[in-house]
Amino acid sequence: MNQTKKIAVIPGDGIGPEIVAEAVKVLKAVESQCGYSFEFSYLTAGGIAVDQLGTPLPEETLEESKQADAVLLGAVGGPKWDRHPVHLRPEQALLGLRKGLGLFSNLRPVVLFEGMEKSSSLKPEVIAGVDLLVVRELTGGIYFGEKKRSKTEQGEVASDLLIYHEYEIERIVRQAFEIARKRKKRVTSVDKANILESSRLWRSIVDRIAEDYPDVEYEHMLVDNCAMQIVRRPADFDVIVTENMFGDILSDEAAILTGSIGMLPSASLADGSFGLYEPVHGSAPDIAGKGIANPAATILSAAMMLRYSFDALEAADQVENAVKNVLRTYRTVDIAEPEHQQVGTEEFGDLVVDRLQSCKKP
Ligand code: NAD
Repeated sequence: MNQTKKIAVIPGDGIGPEIVAEAVKVLKAVESQCGYSFEFSYLTAGGIAVDQLGTPLPEETLEESKQADAVLLGAVGGPKWDRHPVHLRPEQALLGLRKGLGLFSNLRPVVLFEGMEKSSSLKPEVIAGVDLLVVRELTGGIYFGEKKRSKTEQGEVASDLLIYHEYEIERIVRQAFEIARKRKKRVTSVDKANILESSRLWRSIVDRIAEDYPDVEYEHMLVDNCAMQIVRRPADFDVIVTENMFGDILSDEAAILTGSIGMLPSASLADGSFGLYEPVHGSAPDIAGKGIANPAATILSAAMMLRYSFDALEAADQVENAVKNVLRTYRTVDIAEPEHQQVGTEEFGDLVVDRLQSCKKP
């Protein structure tokens, strides 16, 4: 990575600006410690954009995001805008960004950090060693297929079409295999091929693409079985790839394995290396402005940006290791146990920066 990378920063609402500030602080430390160069441009979206500019996603925000190499987003929304008409609701910004930026896959890593076993609802021996990634197709399937509703003599009838084109399946499956190559080299493709024609197409494409990745082990798994195996033997999974609705459900199920919403990062990727990075949690209006929000999910999202958009693998590892290191002793209030020293949002960010080792540029 030789030239300066442009990062569009969208802090958003609630705790968004607080947690994003810590992730930017860490990225700036990566610049100096690891020799990278980033240019940050701050953009407005969400409730704050509704208030200031009368729209949740100003044109300029979308256009500037398109010009960037990656986008870092805090969170949008809050009770202030809950009664607004749909087109003036902050979440419209997320939908507009996803569509406008061509983000077709969503990546949700689930990692159990040392000492976090107690936060999980699973037994420590089941949760130990979990390090999986759910790759969810984001722009096709039943959520976007034709929707119909009509009245018949027997009452109302409604339908949602589950439709997938070959190219939509190919690009996400290929992406999952590429990612698996950089991890433990195992892919679990999840479908419902015993019932659904779209799943049979999905399965045949997975078999074909897998031939290009002889170094990656793969298996097919039915979605109902996968839902069980995720809580039964989660540590056996590496990369799980699946269609939109199955992925929506399985990624939430997997997320809760580690028990803490403040720790979960995510990435949404387009073709090539462009991606939007954001924590899984929302704008947490209940704690906004108090300086106590956990910035770990956003800092870990910035690490995903380094890995997936900038191919800065060592820098990404360094950031993740620094977070792990800090968590051994220091925790924000949402995840603190009696043995930890409680710290606020800013202090947590400072501690991550302190523990960041210098790293070699590839
Ligand atoms: P939330 O994730 O904002 O909060 C749920 C609970 O978790 C709250 O008690 C909150 O204090 C806590 N929490 C969340 N993140 C935390 C963090 N980093 N550190 C410490 N505690 C944290 O979900 P919600 O309350 O259902 O939604 C609040 C608003 O956020 C709503 O307007 C919703 O629409 C929006 N939202 C936005 C996104 C997004 O921007 N991607 C995602 C989900 C919800």
